[in-house]
Amino acid sequence: MSQNVERPNRDHYFMGIAIAVRERADCKGQKVGAVIVVEDRIISTGYNGTPEKMVNCSDGGCVRCENRGKVYESGTAYDLCICVHAEQNAIISAARFGISVQGARVYSTTQPCFGCLKEMLQAKIRQVHYIHPWTSPRTPEQERQYKRLMEEFGCGVVRLEMDDPRKDWALAAGKAASKVSMNTGWNHSRLGVDMRKSAVSHLVLSATHYYATMDTFYA
Ligand SMILES: [Zn+2]
Ligand SMILES: [Zn+2]
Repeated sequence: MSQNVERPNRDHYFMGIAIAVRERADCKGQKVGAVIVVEDRIISTGYNGTPEKMVNCSDGGCVRCENRGKVYESGTAYDLCICVHAEQNAIISAARFGISVQGARVYSTTQPCFGCLKEMLQAKIRQVHYIHPWTSPRTPEQERQYKRLMEEFGCGVVRLEMDDPRKDWALAAGKAASKVSMNTGWNHSRLGVDMRKSAVSHLVLSATHYYATMDTFYA
């Protein structure tokens, strides 16, 4: 089987793993996965959700996400949100275990928000790759400031074109928890034959299957 699968390039390889990492995301908003890469080696990973040992977002753990679109408009009230973003979690994990992220590249399934962008800049991340654009509404002034931050990255903030077999689940805000999706939504046959032909999808399938198996094992 594997001889029919094209070998992914490095960008697709790292992003494929970020997609697999995202399977653990637990937020009523978008689900995001990120990996930090130094010298072509992954040194940290992160996905979004409430801080460790706190009630999961999907179980009502975050008051802002719980009232998203009702009390709080999309893209607002971040100061009330206790969910930690994927990129933040990846940087924080590196800090926790004493691994430098200076000069690293970040692969995040979604374009960084305003806060993550400035944090990554200050952590001396030199390049960010993403698949899905960040679409939260923002004012022209916020847009200008975002661009200012983006321009400071030595190697840019770059969109990567690639298939995302779990796009619908990941980008749908307000849908059921990741665990439910893992059990009911993760179905190889749903991905379609075309998706399975691509090398990256093969990588994502393998990796997510691995994580799904581990998840079940340790549940
Ligand atoms: Zn949340
Ligand atoms: Zn963010």
